[in-house]
This record gives sequence, structure tokens and C-alpha cells, in this order.
Amino acid sequence: AEEFMNNSEKLTVAGQLAAGIAHEIRNPLTAIKGFFQIMEHEFTDKKMYFEVINTEMERIETILNELLVLSKPQKTNYKQKNITTILHHVTTLLKTQTNLHNIEITERIDSNLPPIYCDENQLKQVFINFLKNSIEAMDSGGRIHIEVSKMETSMLLVRFKDEGPGIPDHVLKRIGEPFFTTKENGTGLGIMICKQIIENHRGNMHIESGPLGTIVEVELPIF
Ligand code: ADP
Ligand code: MG
Repeated sequence: AEEFMNNSEKLTVAGQLAAGIAHEIRNPLTAIKGFFQIMEHEFTDKKMYFEVINTEMERIETILNELLVLSKPQKTNYKQKNITTILHHVTTLLKTQTNLHNIEITERIDSNLPPIYCDENQLKQVFINFLKNSIEAMDSGGRIHIEVSKMETSMLLVRFKDEGPGIPDHVLKRIGEPFFTTKENGTGLGIMICKQIIENHRGNMHIESGPLGTIVEVELPIF
């Protein structure tokens, strides 16, 4: 089963709208949090209520932060960068998580890859999102394999392959829809953000999944 992602016009509008709404919600939320912190000291017998409110406020904040990433121009900083270095930063960053979940990351990265023109932080975010999804999919550990190669077109191909249970067709169809998640604590924004960032880089993404796991492919132009 596979799904192609291609809907840039719509997403740009959705992204801008999302960012606008996120800012609008953030201001009142800041006020609520402030008064909440003051009240917390006066109602020590209602500790549990306060914990619930706090957890839910944190959840709103997480969602808002993810939504804000969707706002398009957001001080982008395009430079020539080495993709191998970016990937290694990301895998190092996720080391504690992969160790914790018994996950081994292996890689086959072509030598002499040309640099790509990209916003390093945004690309890192994309790779982190994909790797986190793989980690979250592999409850009992396993291997994530990363491959990077130069394609015949002037694109680089980055491939993430996991050994998770795969994505059923009815889920695969909806992946990338805002807020679509199958996880209890998911936001359902990760893939949508990845898609947006990759499109901004004039690249493509492609997800393929079966019972042996999931493969996410990202194509990025070399310049
Ligand atoms: P979230 O991770 O917050 O749920 P995402 O947009 O990152 O949001 O992913 C949406 C859904 O896609 C997930 O809830 C999950 O069902 C599915 N998914 C994404 N990547 C994988 C993967 N590698 N293996 C299995 N399912 C996946
Ligand atoms: Mg995710």
C-alpha cells in the first residue's frame, strides 16, 4: 500500500490559518496559566483537579507549538548543508529514546554526496518526526535503517525503514490530515508538518507500508 503526497496549494493556506489560530489561542492561554498558578497555592485540597487542568493545558501548548511550525515563511534560513551531518545530529539527539526502546539505528549513506540547499533546523524537525513515529511504532524494539543516495535526477533520496507493524490502508489514506492520530497522546500534526517543510524545499515525500514495516522516502533537490 502506498500514498503519494501532493497538495501544496491547500496546505499553504491551511498552514497560515493554523499559525494565525495558534497565536490567537496562545495569548488567552498564557493568562489562564498565570492565574492558575496563583490559585494552585490557595486550593491545596483540590490537587487532583489542578493536575488534570495542568496536563490539559500542557497538551494545548504542545499542539500550538506544532501548529506554529506550519506557518510558512517563519524565519527560514536556507544554506548549503551536508545531509549526513544533519542526520547524525538527529540520531545523536534521539539516542536516549532509541536506547530506551531497544532500537538500533543502522545506516547506509553514500560517500561524496553533494550538499543540499536547505533550512537545517526544519529538515532536522522532519527527520525527528519520522524517526519518532518509527520509534513509537516499535513497542518491542527493532531496527530503523536509514539510507541516503543520489538519484539520477538531481535529487537526494533519504529513506527511513522501520520494523513496526506497518500502517493499515484506512490509516495510510488519512495520514497527513491535520489532527489525524491513532495514538492516545498523539497530535496528528507530525506528518502534516513534514509534508509542508518538504514542499517548501521543493522535495517530495512518499510513505509505503506493509506488515513488515514502514518506509518513508524523502526526495530533496540538490540545489
Ligand atoms: P502522531 O505521531 O502525533 O500520531 P503523525 O502525523 O506523526 O501524528 O502520524 C499520524 C499517524 O500515522 C500516527 O498516529 C500513526 O498511526 C501513523 N504512523 C506514522 N508513522 C508511522 C510508522 N512509522 N509506523 C506506523 N504508523 C505510523
Ligand atoms: Mg508523529
